[in-house]
Amino acid sequence: MPFLSGKVMLEHAFHHGYGVGAFSAHNAETVQAIVEAAEEEQAPIMIQVGQKVIQTLEMEPMKMLIDWYGRNASVPICIHLDHSRNFSQTMRAVQLGFQSVMFDGSALSFEENTALTRKTADIAASLNIGSEGEIGKIGGTEDDITVDEKDAMITRTEEAAAFVEATDVDYLAASLGTAHGIYRKTPNVRLDRLEEIVQAVKRPVVLHGGSDVPDEQVQRAISLGVAKINVDTELRQAFTRGVQEVFAENKDEFVVANSLGRGKEKMKEKVKEKIHIFGSHQKAENLLTNKEVL
Ligand SMILES: [Zn+2]
Repeated sequence: MPFLSGKVMLEHAFHHGYGVGAFSAHNAETVQAIVEAAEEEQAPIMIQVGQKVIQTLEMEPMKMLIDWYGRNASVPICIHLDHSRNFSQTMRAVQLGFQSVMFDGSALSFEENTALTRKTADIAASLNIGSEGEIGKIGGTEDDITVDEKDAMITRTEEAAAFVEATDVDYLAASLGTAHGIYRKTPNVRLDRLEEIVQAVKRPVVLHGGSDVPDEQVQRAISLGVAKINVDTELRQAFTRGVQEVFAENKDEFVVANSLGRGKEKMKEKVKEKIHIFGSHQKAENLLTNKEVL
């Protein structure tokens, strides 16, 4: 089976200087787009199940879809729960066999966030899956969670260090100047702070809101220790534009497989482009054969 612990996957990326794309899936076609792109590029990937799709399709059928379309893949795949703000939901994902889970307690007090992230990290570690925690608030809107710009503050190095010390979470989502959703102006990743945080916590950092961040900033961030880059908005845009294209050509196209199929093709191209930017193409074999070098 190609399914691999997020901890193993991201440690490999962290130590080998590339980034793993964590791509959000929304339906069967988007799962196929991600898996096919990963196979064609021979890239390890994470497929994210987010809050919107949990509300609409539910967690279990999404997990089953990814299991099904990923089961014969020749590349390592990690199914990740994104931005769970509910500890029971995080545990449900663990029960269902996700290889990586995020508990996002960034809206809670430091103490509450730390306590629940610690529990998540302990349980994940005992099952040899990966855990992600968040410190600092990442701006923008993702699914139904909105963080105002005034609340989105750059994570301080000391709070990141204290959080990791207290939780031992495997990878850390920090607020570094990116935001969820569509940017009004070009984002500026705080690379200086990222460098300090990585030196302090000595583990992979996750870049949320990775859509539309200039490529050279993303690559610089990867060189400093970002090992997981979340991409959703740009993929949804590509998918939707593919569907729109079909209707622009023929507004009476009623074969759903044709419109969704074009969406899938456009999204797949975008995933492949991101894999190249992150440097994870052709890394699958090395990851699978050199796990012991971690
Ligand atoms: Zn996020």
